[in-house]
Amino acid sequence: MFSVAGRSVVVTGASRGIGKGIARVFVQQGAKVLIAARDPSKLAATAQELQETTGGQVIAQACDVSQWEQVQELMARAEQAYGGLDILCANAGIFPQKRLEDLAPEEWDEVLATNLKGCFLCVKAAIPAFQRRGRGRVVLTSSITGPITGFPGWTHYGASKAGQLGFLRTAALELARYGVTINAVLPGNILTEGLASLGDDYLRQMAASIPLGRLGRVEDVAYAALFLASDEASYITGQTLVVDGGQILPESLEALQSIYS
Ligand code: NAP
Repeated sequence: MFSVAGRSVVVTGASRGIGKGIARVFVQQGAKVLIAARDPSKLAATAQELQETTGGQVIAQACDVSQWEQVQELMARAEQAYGGLDILCANAGIFPQKRLEDLAPEEWDEVLATNLKGCFLCVKAAIPAFQRRGRGRVVLTSSITGPITGFPGWTHYGASKAGQLGFLRTAALELARYGVTINAVLPGNILTEGLASLGDDYLRQMAASIPLGRLGRVEDVAYAALFLASDEASYITGQTLVVDGGQILPESLEALQSIYS
């Protein structure tokens, strides 16, 4: 089920965290994967690790998703190395935490440039390759924060992640004529290097607010992305899939506490 065997896949933000998890699951399913992130040495180490632990095809190219020329080169590399492009997982994102009073306009711009403009640039750059194939799949990594929930310190992040969904709904209409679907996964709190940098207190509080009783694993998001990228999901476009262990569901603290009482 949900085979992506032989497919050519680009995953951005894949030197660690959720992107690396997506890359691993896709390679394990027989896909040929090109991973991207900014730091070339970490990226090369990840590609080597994925190759050695899966025996699959993984190559790497350094790319800042906010830079149009670099993004175009990334998609061209996938076509050149793998003979085409079938799937784009636009996952790269940053989530620095800063309250409004302290948030500088430049910091706002950086988050929007990476998370929202980066997503637009990646999808735009992939279109010619998808047209040549006559089909395609895009999976965006959005978030529950912004589209569904709020959290102090993340106005810029929330705006970028909600913005991705506004982009998604019209992009789904524009891409339909090329046989391309575009959907989004909305992770809750997934244990990654980026999340761990927010500190142990944050992680403890978050784990305690999740009905299923644990933080998410990168594979939890990766399998959702795998489904949306598969042939079997060919009739789903413009949609979102929350992967959060039930975090957005409790109406009150009492509702949460009564789960295990
Ligand atoms: P992470 O552990 O911090 O990893 C982020 C990855 O993105 C790294 O590979 C990083 O490598 C890359 N990256 C950052 N800026 C980039 C840029 N401008 N161009 C290309 N690559 C870039 O983050 P994560 O927790 O895995 O999060 C991944 C995605 O999931 C993000 O979009 C995030 O918003 C979303 N998300 C995460 C959670 C969570 O709980 N972890 C929840 C909801 C949504 P370089 O720094 O070398 O570029």
